Amino acid sequence: MTSVVYPGSFNPITYGHRDIVERALRLFDRVVVAVGTAADKDPETHLRERIELCRLALAEFGDRVEVEGFNTLLVDYARSKDTHFVVRGLRTISDFDYESQMIAMNQTMDPELEYVLLPTSRQWAFLSSSLVREIAVLGGDISEFVHPAVAAHYQQSNG
Ligand code: ADP
Repeated sequence: MTSVVYPGSFNPITYGHRDIVERALRLFDRVVVAVGTAADKDPETHLRERIELCRLALAEFGDRVEVEGFNTLLVDYARSKDTHFVVRGLRTISDFDYESQMIAMNQTMDPELEYVLLPTSRQWAFLSSSLVREIAVLGGDISEFVHPAVAAHYQQSNG
């Protein structure tokens, strides 16, 4: 069984993230979605919410997808999950610039770490969690970009 770690903020999880999970499952048996802690007013509560929304949004994949919080070095986390594989999504060339830096740093810490960079579907290439948050805060409709559970969560927080 080969697993891959998919780390990120998932703040919140979008259909773009889901697309990467689905693509990764064509290459690996299992995907471990590793939700990072964010420097934020109430990081613990907020982290729990992000994890819960990831679980709901990825429930369709059953036990091939695991969702966990993590606050250690990615290289240590991957080792704890018995894998050397990390997957990240690519939208634009600026994602690639950012990833190249992360890859170089992480490979210095663990030369065996392999990154798999998966281009997203064209449909989601312009989708980002920060834009979704902005639209939601202003009362806009985000149902085209996120799982219904995520949309409902933001509607509740606004209402
Ligand atoms: P981070 O803060 O670590 O970049 P994100 O949650 O923003 O966390 O992103 C996690 C991963 O998902 C990154 O590899 C990012 O490029 C990818 N990603 C984010 N949005 C999309 C999208 N719309 N399509 C494909 N990949 C995406």
